[in-house]
Amino acid sequence: MSKRYKVAVIKGDGVGPEVIEEAKKVLDAAAYSFRFTIDYYDYLMGGVAVDRVGVPLPDETLCGCLDADAILFGAVGGGKWDSLEHNFRPEHGLLKLRKSLDVFANLRPIFVYNELADASTLKTEVISGVDIMVVRELTGGIYFGEPRAKEEDKAYNTMIYSREEIHRIAKIAFETALKRKKKVCSVDKANVLEVSRFWREEVIRVAQEYPDVALTHMYVDNAAMQLIKNPKQFDVILTGNLFGDILSDEASMLCGSIGLLPSASIGHKVSLYEPIHGSAPDIAKQGIVNPIAAIASASMMLRYSLQQEEAANAIDKAINKVLKDGYRTRDIASFGAKSLCTTDDMGTLIANIVSRHEKE
Ligand code: NAD
Repeated sequence: MSKRYKVAVIKGDGVGPEVIEEAKKVLDAAAYSFRFTIDYYDYLMGGVAVDRVGVPLPDETLCGCLDADAILFGAVGGGKWDSLEHNFRPEHGLLKLRKSLDVFANLRPIFVYNELADASTLKTEVISGVDIMVVRELTGGIYFGEPRAKEEDKAYNTMIYSREEIHRIAKIAFETALKRKKKVCSVDKANVLEVSRFWREEVIRVAQEYPDVALTHMYVDNAAMQLIKNPKQFDVILTGNLFGDILSDEASMLCGSIGLLPSASIGHKVSLYEPIHGSAPDIAKQGIVNPIAAIASASMMLRYSLQQEEAANAIDKAINKVLKDGYRTRDIASFGAKSLCTTDDMGTLIANIVSRHEKE
């Protein structure tokens, strides 16, 4: 009997619904070719949830996500909700979801599609062949640390990490490195922050369990420079929540557009898959958003949560083929475009290749 999976879908705000539509189109094509079934369950989160039910993360959404085999997520946020108090902001819904699901490990592959090597603002020889996995701690650090407050004349947040939090994310980084080039660079600010010195000590402790993996340390300011100067030196970058947020967005520009890169947020119970970009309200509802990051996130979902490796490979190959054939959405249009396409065209082109897969 063919396998059947339950996927919770959160489209969110801005371009979220548009990119999720295309990701589902491609997933359906993969399900057809590789003979499995995905049942989708839609849930509200973000600004759309604030508007409809008054909170950014309704209980029903959290329960539905906990009950699913995996979660596919678009993006949340937008100017309309920016002036709301912290707990009612769309982004708070996402942080609360990640924390409640305990998806503590954010994996962000940073790679350059050959056909887009000249899409980067950096020289082709610097970026072609870049293949980095950023392993970012996602449910701790300064985004969640207490105390936090905004008062009349001051405001503060707290960067805090427990030994257990560092231990489990470090293990994911070392395990990931074992399947790659066996190098981990741990990024911190140990010259200034006690929390970083503690981070470093614990990472060194975990490294002893992985004698085949080479561990180096780098201060975050230097890492920001090195990513631009010589990105090929990196294999796995291990870092905390705040530094990982900033570095992975910086690294994403190596590949030319934020609209290209996926991410997986891995937990012990269930995992969440999302493009690394936000809700891009400036381009929403115009049919021009690049859906490749969301489609590649769906591919990560097949690989990591649904154990459909072959289907995931077929999607990755189809993305490469479409780019090789010169199809481009507007964000990457100036790089070798033979044909400018809409969001919907891009999803359909990739889905068509995936659904023809078995006949090739
Ligand atoms: P953003 O990633 O939404 O957009 C940054 C720039 O990149 C914009 O010019 C946008 O048009 C462009 N862009 C983004 N995705 C694209 C795509 N797929 N194709 C083509 N171009 C794309 O970041 P922002 O503008 O800083 O944030 C907008 C809103 O999104 C804010 O409310 C922010 O809080 C929220 N946000 C949400 C998430 C999330 O849901 N995970 C992440 C980041 C930002």
